[in-house]
Amino acid sequence: MPRENKHSHWEWRTSHAGHSFFGFKCRVCQAYVPTLEEISGVQNRNHCPNCLCSRHMDWMEAGDRLSACKAVMYPVGLSIKWSHNKYARVLDGELLLVHQCTDCGKLSINRIAADDRPDMLQELFHTSIEWVDQLQMSIKSDIHLLTKKDAWLIDRQLGGLGG
Ligand SMILES: [Zn+2]
Ligand SMILES: [Zn+2]
Repeated sequence: MPRENKHSHWEWRTSHAGHSFFGFKCRVCQAYVPTLEEISGVQNRNHCPNCLCSRHMDWMEAGDRLSACKAVMYPVGLSIKWSHNKYARVLDGELLLVHQCTDCGKLSINRIAADDRPDMLQELFHTSIEWVDQLQMSIKSDIHLLTKKDAWLIDRQLGGLGG
């Protein structure tokens, strides 16, 4: 970077790993991603609300920031965490993003943030259902990816994100 380039407020605080207390710059679309919980609505935000890409920061559990990998993680599909809502008398679920590391192949599940683009989530869903069967077979974990029959869920969930 040329010397005369002024570092912006957030860049100045960014560590060598690219993350700071205030945010990080997306490696894929270059967007500035605020990580403050007041904005994203989630803790330990790793992914970009604009392109949904993430980085392999965590090793054993979300937020530990112990991964030595640090490669870009691409969103591969959506999953859902079900919980019984006794008041609504219906199953209530929270949409989750499934990322896969481009370097080591590790999968991770991430909560969707309040400012994630609903249209990008929709697009990811529609793309992912093309390969979800193969992907699900290759995943040796209890992550269950959403399939075509879950489309109604996506509409309901993303409609509820304020979009
Ligand atoms: Zn991005
Ligand atoms: Zn990795």
